[in-house]
Amino acid sequence: MANNTILVVEDEEDIALLVSRVLEKEGYTVRIAHNLSEAQEFLEKQRPILIILDLMLPDGDGLELCKHLKFRENEQEIAIIILTAKGEEIDRILGFEVGADDYIIKPFSPRELALRVRAILRRFKETEAPQSEIYRVGDLLLDVARHQAFVKGEPIHLTRTEFALLLTLFKARGKVLTREILLDRVWGYSFEGYARTVDTHIRRLRKKLGPCASFIETVWGLGYRFKAQP
Ligand code: CA
Repeated sequence: MANNTILVVEDEEDIALLVSRVLEKEGYTVRIAHNLSEAQEFLEKQRPILIILDLMLPDGDGLELCKHLKFRENEQEIAIIILTAKGEEIDRILGFEVGADDYIIKPFSPRELALRVRAILRRFKETEAPQSEIYRVGDLLLDVARHQAFVKGEPIHLTRTEFALLLTLFKARGKVLTREILLDRVWGYSFEGYARTVDTHIRRLRKKLGPCASFIETVWGLGYRFKAQP
C-alpha cells in the first residue's frame, strides 16, 4: 500500500486531535508527536509523506527539525507545512535557511488545512513524474528530472518548492507572473493574504542563485518575471 502517513508534531492536545481528525477524514494515516524527541523517534523508524509542524514545542523550536530534514542530502524530501500562531514571523518560517514548503496560521479552518495538504502532496507527486527536460540559460542550468539547478556548473541545493517556483518563472520567461498566479501554479491554491509566501521564497531563491539571481526581476506592483535574455 502506498505510504500515506502524515506526522503531526504538536504539543497542544486539542489542536493535534483537530488536525488528525481532519486528515483522517481525508484518508490519511495520522501519527502525533507531542515534542521534538517523539518526532525524531518516529522519523528514525518511518518516513511520513508530510509533516505538520508546530514551532513552539516543549523541548525546542520546530524550525530546527525543519531545517534538519530539508537539508539532508540524498534523502527523499518530506513535505513540511508549519502551523504557526498569529504574530509569529512569517519570514522566519519561509525565509532563508529553513526550507518549509508552506505555513498555516492558527486558528485555521479545517477546510483550509485539508486543501493545503492536498495541494502540496499533489505538487510533490507531480514533480516525481519522470521528465527529462534540461534547460540552460546563461550560467544557469535546470535539470527537471533531478530537481537540480546548477549555477556555473556547480549544483545548488533547492527544495522542491523552490525548484518548482524557479521552473515556473523560467517557463514563462519574459512574462510577468503575479503572486496570485505563482501561488496557484506552484502551491496549488491562491488564498488571499498569502502573497508573502511568494516573496519570501523568491528572496531565498535569489540568495541561493547567487550570480544568477538577477534573472528574476521584481516588477513593482505586479509580480515577478524571469528575464527573457540573460
Ligand atoms: Ca506549541
